[in-house]
This record gives sequence, structure tokens and C-alpha cells, in this order.
Amino acid sequence: MDLEQTKTIFGISNFRGNQETIIKHIQSGGNALVLMPTGMGKSLCYQIPALMMPGLCIVISPLIALMKDQVSSLKRKGVAAEFINSSLGKSERLQRYDKLASGEYKILYVSPERFQKKDFLDALSKQTVSLLAIDEAHCISQWGHDFRPDYTKIVWFREVLGFPTTMALTATASKRVQEDIISQLGIEKEKIQIFDDGLFRPNLKLSVLDCFDSESKFNTILGDLEKRKGATIIYFSLIQDLEKFSHWMDTKRRKHLVYHGKLSADQRNKVQSLFLKSEDGVLLATNAFGMGIDKPNIRNIFHAQIPGSIESYYQEIGRAGRDGDPSDCILYYQQDDLAVQMEFIEWQNPDKSYLQKLYNVLTQKQAELSGLDYETLQSYMTFKNKGDHRIQTALSLLASKGLVSGDLERGTLQIESSWSDSIFSETELLERKKENQKRLYQTVLYTKTENCRRKFIHEYFDSAFGGCGNCDLCSAKL
Ligand code: ADP
Repeated sequence: MDLEQTKTIFGISNFRGNQETIIKHIQSGGNALVLMPTGMGKSLCYQIPALMMPGLCIVISPLIALMKDQVSSLKRKGVAAEFINSSLGKSERLQRYDKLASGEYKILYVSPERFQKKDFLDALSKQTVSLLAIDEAHCISQWGHDFRPDYTKIVWFREVLGFPTTMALTATASKRVQEDIISQLGIEKEKIQIFDDGLFRPNLKLSVLDCFDSESKFNTILGDLEKRKGATIIYFSLIQDLEKFSHWMDTKRRKHLVYHGKLSADQRNKVQSLFLKSEDGVLLATNAFGMGIDKPNIRNIFHAQIPGSIESYYQEIGRAGRDGDPSDCILYYQQDDLAVQMEFIEWQNPDKSYLQKLYNVLTQKQAELSGLDYETLQSYMTFKNKGDHRIQTALSLLASKGLVSGDLERGTLQIESSWSDSIFSETELLERKKENQKRLYQTVLYTKTENCRRKFIHEYFDSAFGGCGNCDLCSAKL
């Protein structure tokens, strides 16, 4: 298959940024670290070479929820793609192993823990892997914002796969994280090329508006909606604040959709598909909305409440303007909203005594673990604060130390080993909390900067800055 044929398959007329250079580099056997803004088109950089090269392409991704969508979209284009991850039942998984062994796949998405399964390695051993793509590669580095311990075994994966051409892809990696990714891949610096398309697509205009109170904020947002055309997402941190705004919009007879974690899966799917089809819909959402959303014509991303970190802000505004047309990203800063984020930080950082209490409760209730839900577990833990969301974080902390395994919602949670006082260090837990507080502080500094919004975010990610021209502060200087 040649390049023109693959362009037809993917329905594209022109490549963006470094895409074509990267594809040619990979096709000729070069390794690459690809830095490309969210929504610009990282996936094509491995999907196209995968079709042009003989053998199989393995894509490692930590985002199980997204694999299915990516694979469905490839299948619709007639590409022999599949995914294997923990969401599959046993018979489905075994079927896919068989198909893998008999060479039916061209592109296979897996999560890193798949490499610990012997069945998978056996099936894989019958195939020649010509390309290994590591998506969300910042997860490799402990200096990144989303470190995944499973990602540190990539050197070993490369060895298992027979050292195929390797590419790592991410939207955000500071210089330090870039160096760390390369060293974790086990590739010498001279044998891997870095392709840096910067952090932002130029069509996104970044602005911040200071708001004194909720009322003035609501009015400003409504005014901005009236002035602008096109599909808009308005992000909220708290469901109850989202609902307050929604009621207020009702009184103004302003049509809108609502998406958050308290809606049923059915309702969420309905809202999502309505919004994806709409030209000018307004969607009020919490950060539960957005992962894997690939709507090209979102014109405005408003943040009605300050997000908890520059990382999440960057991720969320990356959903605007994927078609390349001008789009607005406005953060409405109201000081009171900081309290919400500070409370989130408390929830995300349970202390040692809470972890031990949760572990004790789980041990006492061992017989009923398979039928337990969050609410019941919550009621065993505390009777006072119903709005306390520490359990999720606490469970994953227990799992990270091997004390429990499995998943509460799937009924597979189980105790693995016994508690010992040295498992969690108070200092480590405190450091983690401080790190979250620092991220929030940096987000506040972003709203206060007087220089240039893009420059601020580039410095935050320690990324090369090539000039702005599209933020409220720079526009005001013109
Ligand atoms: P990300 O960089 O966030 O991983 P994706 O790879 O998901 O982005 O691509 C985002 C969208 O852009 C997809 O719908 C993809 O088909 C589209 N796309 C990518 N490259 C091009 C291109 N050269 N021309 C037109 N559309 C493109």
C-alpha cells in the first residue's frame, strides 16, 4: 500500500504539521518521539505506517475506554484492527488470541498489563511485529503528570517483540519527561528522532475573565454565548453548581444539554450523541465528558469553574476547534471556586488512618465484597459526610501497594495481602497532596498572568515557545 492509498482510506487530503515527515521516517525504520497538540492527529502517525509496513503494529495505550472507539473507527475504514484488554470476557479474549496467532490483525491495541499474560505472549510469538506505538507516552515518566508504573516495563516489551521500530506519542512532555521517555524506551539518543509540533493549535484563542460572584459570572457567560456561534461545552467542577446554572438557563429560556456522572449511562449516551450531531448545541458538563470525543466543530470551550491543574485545562480545551477554524477557550475565574478544588484535593488525598480504616472494613466485610457498591462501603466508613469521595482514591492507593486487587464495581475486588504499618509513609502521602496543591496554585497563576497565556502554559510544560498572537493579553497589546 502506498501513501496516497492510505490517504484515501483515512479520507484526508492534506497532512498536518509533521505528520508526513513522521510517517516517512517510521516507514523507513526510524524510531520517533512525537509531540503533537491534542486533536491534531497523532493516531495517523502510526496508523498509516502500520498499513504500509509488513507485519503487525502493536499500540500500547493506558486508556481502555478509548480503545473500543478507536478500533471501531478503524474497522469502519476496513482496517483489520482489534483491541485486547481487561474489559473482555474470557471466551472473547481467547478468540482474539487465536485470531492474533493466525495473523488476522494489522493493528492491535493493548494496555501495558497485557504483557504479563502468558497466553498473550504465546499468541504474539507467532507474529512479526514491525511497529510498536506507545500512546500517551508521558505515562512512562515519573516526572510526568500521569505516571503509570506498568509503563516502565517498555524496554522489556520491546525485547519481547524483537526490537521493532518504536514510536512514543504524547501531547505534553517537558524536556525532562522527553529525556526520561527516551531512556525508558532503552533507545540511544542518536537512534530516535524527536518531532515537536508545539503545544497548541494556533486557532485556539485563550482568555480569562475575572468574575466577582456567581450572578455576574452567569450573566457574563450567557452574554458570551449570545455573541458566539457554534457548539459549546461549558465545564463545571461540581454537579450541583452545574445544575444551578442549568436551572438559571431555564429561567432565561436558553436551550442546553446536561452531562455528568449522576446521569444513567443511557441518558449520558443520548446527550452525547445529540451534542455530537449538533451544529450549535450548548452542553453543560463535568469532566466526565470528553474522553475520546472527536467532534471537529466545537467552537467554544468555557470553564465556568477553575480546573484543578493546567494539565486538565490543556486536555479539555484541546477539544475545541479540531477542524482548524477559530475557536474560543475562556476561563471564568471566580475566587470562591477555589474552595471546590481544595475540597477535591482533600478527597484525592486520604491520610494513612483513613486507608487503614478502609482496609479494616474490607477485611471485616470480606464475605460480601463481590456484592458491595460504593454507597454501601461509604456507609461503613463514615456516617457524617455523604459527599465524601475519598473511597475511589483510597481503593486505588491500596491496589497500588498490592493490598487489594480487582474492581469494586465489577464485583471482583479482593484482599491480596495483609496490612503493615510501613506500607504507606505519611511523608509520601503528604508530598502527593502538596503536589496537587502546587498544580492548583499554578492554575491560579495562569489566570493572573499579565504576560501571555500561551507563554505561561509553554513554560509550565517546559516546552519551546514560538510566539503567541492568540490570547486575550496579547490581543490587548496590539
Ligand atoms: P490526537 O492528536 O488527539 O491523538 P487524533 O489522532 O485522534 O488526535 O485525531 C483527531 C482528528 O483529526 C481525527 O478525527 C482525525 O481523523 C483527524 N485528522 C488527523 N489528521 C488529519 C489530517 N491530516 N487531515 C484531516 N483530518 C485529520
